[in-house]
Amino acid sequence: MQKPYRDFSEYFSAHFPYKVQKISLNAGCTCPNRDGSTGTGGCTYCNNRSFSPEYTARLKPIGEQMQEGMAFFAHKYPQMRYLAYFQSYTNTYGDRQALQAMYAAALAQPGVVGLVLGTRPDCMDEEWLRYFADLRERTHVFIEYGVESTLDRTLRRVNRGHTFSQAAESIRRTSEHGLPCGAHLIIGLPGESRDDFLHHIDELNNLPITSIKLHQLQILRGTIMGRDYMKDPAAFGLMTADDYLEIAVDLLRHMRPDLYVDRFVSQSPPDLILAPRWSIKNYIFTNKLVNTMLNRGYRQGDLYGK
Ligand code: SF4
Repeated sequence: MQKPYRDFSEYFSAHFPYKVQKISLNAGCTCPNRDGSTGTGGCTYCNNRSFSPEYTARLKPIGEQMQEGMAFFAHKYPQMRYLAYFQSYTNTYGDRQALQAMYAAALAQPGVVGLVLGTRPDCMDEEWLRYFADLRERTHVFIEYGVESTLDRTLRRVNRGHTFSQAAESIRRTSEHGLPCGAHLIIGLPGESRDDFLHHIDELNNLPITSIKLHQLQILRGTIMGRDYMKDPAAFGLMTADDYLEIAVDLLRHMRPDLYVDRFVSQSPPDLILAPRWSIKNYIFTNKLVNTMLNRGYRQGDLYGK
């Protein structure tokens, strides 16, 4: 079935003549928004379970993490190739040489054809950009930036520790270095409305990004937001899954037609989620979204610029 939006898998199909699978790796990075470099306490929605030294010490070497991830798919799909996905936390924050050694260890594994790396927009300096531009001469590189909101009042409220203009500037400089990048947005942050979500899409439409990754706000145990939620749940006015579906449809219709869409919902471990507890799998939500768009004759970008 033809999807009414550009699924991120089409980006991979356009770049690789075989199927690729991202393998999530954990580099054990910390975060400048926790260690005092940018801020302390972290983003109010961030669960810090993975920041303890004991947890980091238990992490396996990157080559081993990569091999274990690939083994899961290899017997079923022998032709599959892999992308090393440094997803969690701030993967350009820490000892530069040690991090580069981890990227190299992942890329050295047979069958690995590129690197996808998530980071904060304020953690991508010129030296990193030159490093990734150079790496891109030899392998595929894709950068994901945690933009989260385009409104500074929201970014301050969730203690994000950077502004939207910092995110926009990093995206522009990344593009100037010839590197493709995507923006991650959280839909439903406190104080934001449907108009604000549409404003995010308008702002991102104007930036040289390749993809947008969306997910709904999840309020997790062990977070500052979780503590506030427990005190006054009504203050959060959380969306139902159906509300969110309508918002996602709206966002897609206003989105630049050439952008790839990487995801709509995220699923944290159930024991961590305080709210909303939708219990809906990513693929079920996506199927519902696709059917809604098709039944109504909508497609990505049909309201772009209107
Ligand atoms: S969400 Fe990311 S940027 Fe924010 S505190 Fe957690 S790791 Fe740091």
